[in-house]
Amino acid sequence: MTTVTGVPTVDDGELVSTSPATGELAGRFPVAEPEDVDRAVDRARAAADWWAGLGFAGRRTRLSRWRAMLANRLPELADLCHRETGKPVAEAVVEILAAIEHVDWANRNAKRVLGPRRVRSRLVLVEHSAHLEYQPYGVVGVIGPWNYPVLTPLGSIGYALAAGNTVVFKPSEYSPAVGQWLVDTFAEVVPEQPVFQVVHGLGEVGAALCHARVDKVAFTGSTGTAKRVMAACAESLTPVVLEAGGKDAMIVDADADLDAAAEACVWGALTNAGQSCIGIERAYVVDAVHDAFVDKVVERAGRLTVGVDGADIGPITMPRQIEVIRRHITDAVARGGRAVLGGPEAVQPPYVRPTILLGVPEDADAIREETFGPTLTINRVADADEAVSRANALPYGLGGSVFGRRRATEIAARIRAGMVAVNSTLTFVGMSTLPFGGVGDSGFGRIHGPDGLREFARSKAVTRRRGPSPLPAMTFERTPAQVERIVKMARILYGR
Ligand code: NDP
Repeated sequence: MTTVTGVPTVDDGELVSTSPATGELAGRFPVAEPEDVDRAVDRARAAADWWAGLGFAGRRTRLSRWRAMLANRLPELADLCHRETGKPVAEAVVEILAAIEHVDWANRNAKRVLGPRRVRSRLVLVEHSAHLEYQPYGVVGVIGPWNYPVLTPLGSIGYALAAGNTVVFKPSEYSPAVGQWLVDTFAEVVPEQPVFQVVHGLGEVGAALCHARVDKVAFTGSTGTAKRVMAACAESLTPVVLEAGGKDAMIVDADADLDAAAEACVWGALTNAGQSCIGIERAYVVDAVHDAFVDKVVERAGRLTVGVDGADIGPITMPRQIEVIRRHITDAVARGGRAVLGGPEAVQPPYVRPTILLGVPEDADAIREETFGPTLTINRVADADEAVSRANALPYGLGGSVFGRRRATEIAARIRAGMVAVNSTLTFVGMSTLPFGGVGDSGFGRIHGPDGLREFARSKAVTRRRGPSPLPAMTFERTPAQVERIVKMARILYGR
């Protein structure tokens, strides 16, 4: 098969990964057949008892060593991300830092969040003590995207490992080299057992993982694929956490710091060439500050450089996305939108220059669908209430951003999304103490933070009798007089 720049191909049973900017080879990896996926899961299952048996302390030592290795070899990994996806090195550095922070937090807090503990008994069962612990599922299958090939998978993998699971990881076909690097470095610090493995290939390898009797699937990718993953997992009642797409909005209120808002908007919309699930794709700006905000955004976005080395904006990683970006821009302009920066001519494969579109109709694809490119729509609204209703009008609900003073917190609470940043953008993804995930078409379940640890563990409830029952209810040996007393007690406890 011929290798088109940036498009992964299968050659002689190997997945061939190349740079979208230069076509340079990033790596070749054997494609897993369904039996290989099954075997990897069998090996992971055999390793699961050992890994769980190490306990929090044993895992913590090993995960700390891996975290240190990630930190010390950060430049090497950033360079690999750059070569494989085209992402600028500086952006890769920021991504990897966030990923390391999550591995560190999950590792340090696993015992506190998941460890065995006593919980309070209530009066109705006062003769029993109550105990709670969170046990690992066993084997977690992780399916990842290419756009943040370190941060998004590690947001699941770091938490799943810290919770005591083993992991079989299917990286995107656009970022197998990064996935392999993560697994290889982990094997250097945990050589004893295949605790963290990788299986390579196209979408069908991800599908095979869903059918491979894993105990949970953590999926990050598009909404369409998330539905297929859930349908496949439904057959075996395998639980899933789905981190899917988004169309995040920024709201700029009249009392916002416009310089700060413009700076954050340009970065939030254009970082990683706009290929971010939580990227700002729409801005709603109140009338009084709309024009000044647009000027500031255009001035900043116009300064950004586009190219392969040392540029602010790299190539579009997935070549077929370029046609989606082109269609959104062309349609927006045809429907009355105005390009104040870029426009249809900004699409110059493998690059797309920053494009800012004003006055795009709310039913246009550029407003309703994920563009996943360095584009931004800015629409004028009468006030923040109109901005909220427009922001909330889509089936997606991943993240969002609000700039303002007096009403900013109230507006943030009204945005239908899993995460919102006030007076910044995207910040929540790096805040390891907070959960990350969406609503509606953006998926469900949470990674990161305590919820992210619990996502990869089953709660196990245990009661232990500590004395005779004052009011025996859960036995056939209760007497009619005791039933009478239960009725009285119900009135006393709950009747007012
Ligand atoms: P895709 O949905 O195309 O692919 C995601 C992963 O699923 C890839 O590894 C893919 O393999 C695999 N896959 C494809 N088909 C199947 C299948 N039938 N069964 C199981 N797995 C399958 O997404 P992209 O890789 O293009 O990533 C971009 C998307 O990810 C965007 O929508 C973005 O918003 C979203 N995303 C969401 C995030 C979040 O946290 N909410 C974070 C980052 C991205 P292959 O690549 O080989 O086809």
